[in-house]
Amino acid sequence: MAERVDVAVVGGGVTGLAAAWALARAGREPLVLEQFRVGNTHGSSHGATRIFRLAYEEPEWVLLAQEALGLWRELERESGTALLDLNGLVDLPVDAAALTATLDACDTAYELLGPAEVERRFGLVTDCCKAVFQPEAGVVRADRALQAFGAGVHVREAARVRALVPHGDGVRLETDDGSIEAEVAVVAAGAWAKPLLARTGIDLPVVPTRETVAYFRLARDRAVPSVIDYGNRETYALTAGPGLVKVGVHHSGPPTDPDEPGVPDEAIVRFAAAWAAGAFSLASPEPVSVETCLYTSTADTRFVLERHGPVVVCSACSGHGFKFAPAVGRHVAALLS
Ligand SMILES: Cc1cc2nc3c(=O)[nH]c(=O)nc-3n(C[C@H](O)[C@H](O)[C@H](O)COP(=O)(O)OP(=O)(O)OC[C@H]3O[C@@H](n4cnc5c(N)ncnc54)[C@H](O)[C@@H]3O)c2cc1C
Repeated sequence: MAERVDVAVVGGGVTGLAAAWALARAGREPLVLEQFRVGNTHGSSHGATRIFRLAYEEPEWVLLAQEALGLWRELERESGTALLDLNGLVDLPVDAAALTATLDACDTAYELLGPAEVERRFGLVTDCCKAVFQPEAGVVRADRALQAFGAGVHVREAARVRALVPHGDGVRLETDDGSIEAEVAVVAAGAWAKPLLARTGIDLPVVPTRETVAYFRLARDRAVPSVIDYGNRETYALTAGPGLVKVGVHHSGPPTDPDEPGVPDEAIVRFAAAWAAGAFSLASPEPVSVETCLYTSTADTRFVLERHGPVVVCSACSGHGFKFAPAVGRHVAALLS
């Protein structure tokens, strides 16, 4: 006999866990099925931190980030855990006017700073003549967030879903340990979602890429803001713990198969090291560690959030999905109400 559940969530990354959290708050009884472990290093959600920011040129992202900010605060209260460290974001835009026009329209605070002021306040060296400092930004503590979202929901690890079979009044999920019948399956399977959904006839227009990030020790253990340098290949930096800064180059990785072991891209590590040495005062120009992480991107970096009968598709990455997770979770729950 197949096991019966209310809602099955495929994927225990931040998207699946946030969806399960929101579904439980809406009175549903989700079961999260994760093929590895929560916090695994094969997908997209591992590590200590991700950038949180309201600063986007497109108002829809600002509004979604504002929605997420309130929900992160609710999750912090609920879990008794600090999840956001808001040391601000120094945005080094190509066109500050486009960004500040959106921030004005969305009633979002910012300061315009010259390079000398950026260096004096943040120890960050830049030749960008008009930086936009956004105070309601910084990092979300990624590892803690996964724990907080997952705390109140049933998560089954080492449970790979091989197939989804929609039928009259629900959907059957085939796993190595048997079948599970659910009223609805939420597919939040990151880089693995496309082939899983293709077997049920759903085309998910995403490409997984393997991105490289490098970690550097700062000369002094000071709180650094998050940084996005749009004029330099969209290189970004964020704190990754005391005295540690993580540096990556947005959308610089090659298409990949998520089941293949990934190796960091040495050219990206060299580029990140040169950028970091120019921007910060480092203890050493050599990275203390490097790692890879998967992006699962649509062509326009928007998310796919759709219901196809008993299957809900939730693909929220394109390299910027973490910050929005609680809001995305709420929108998933709304698709089931
Ligand atoms: C280098 C890098 C830097 C980033 N920086 C930022 C940032 O600064 N700010 C920001 O907001 N976002 C950032 N992101 C994006 C953010 O991390 C992702 O949007 C987010 O982690 C996506 O989570 P996910 O749950 O969709 O995918 P994943 O974390 O990959 O989770 C999917 C899970 O599904 C499981 N799974 C897959 N198939 C199955 C199956 N068949 N059965 C069972 N389980 C399955 C997988 O094992 C995996 O654990 C970054 C991403 C990367 C890679």
